[in-house]
Amino acid sequence: MVDHAERGHVPGSGRRPMMSGIGTVAMLAACAVLIGLAFLRWRDIGLGGLLWLVLFVTMTAIRLPHAARNRANAVVQAHSDATERALLLGMFATMMVLPLLHLATGLFAFSDYRLPGAATAAGAIMLLPTLWLFWRSHADLGRNWSPGLEVHAEHRLVTEGVYARWRHPMYVAIWLAVLIQPLLIHNVVAGSLAIPAFAAMWTLRVPREEAMMRARFGTQYDIYAARVGRLWPATRP
Ligand code: SAH
Repeated sequence: MVDHAERGHVPGSGRRPMMSGIGTVAMLAACAVLIGLAFLRWRDIGLGGLLWLVLFVTMTAIRLPHAARNRANAVVQAHSDATERALLLGMFATMMVLPLLHLATGLFAFSDYRLPGAATAAGAIMLLPTLWLFWRSHADLGRNWSPGLEVHAEHRLVTEGVYARWRHPMYVAIWLAVLIQPLLIHNVVAGSLAIPAFAAMWTLRVPREEAMMRARFGTQYDIYAARVGRLWPATRP
């Protein structure tokens, strides 16, 4: 069963504390510095590293406006426990901190590996579909998106757009991004660790998220889940 940590809130004003806004600005500033340093090392990081930076910056740019707007959502239920926090920390470390640090400084060069140019080309080809799906899933989920597991006062079950084909299109886009990462960054620490981190996220979070949606939307969610595929795009009659 899912752990419930009911968050007290004043309806219509479910804002997160100010600190998280300041934390976001500090984090973006640190990212900007590391990205700048990484670009200065363009000869060392190669085309793959540069393409990963494009992927990272574009994904961040897609997400930021939704994160800023949805901070005003009135959260009525938040499922945040040690497991959820550990999963988010794993994603933050492996999809952001480690690759940026490595590209900016070469810190993890001891775990470099070599791949043929075709691997970088395969990663490059996957960039656009990945970014498209990441963008569309944010656009379709709109006010209903949150980085953590949350139910909002105005929450509605989205079943249209890319959600008509997948129950988890945003996670499918993140799957693609973590599979691309080691093709573009040829380094175990900075490139490959994102795969086990997101595999853990997928395995542990999806059942909890679906249980939360089922508890909130009841048979409406059962009907939706019976019709629409989880990982593979499928619409059953
Ligand atoms: N798993 C989805 C959404 C990830 S964002 C995807 O991969 O596309 C996580 C939040 O989205 C959860 O807290 C949940 O409240 C919300 N959510 C997930 N599916 C939803 C849906 N079909 N309609 C509305 N909200 C949804």
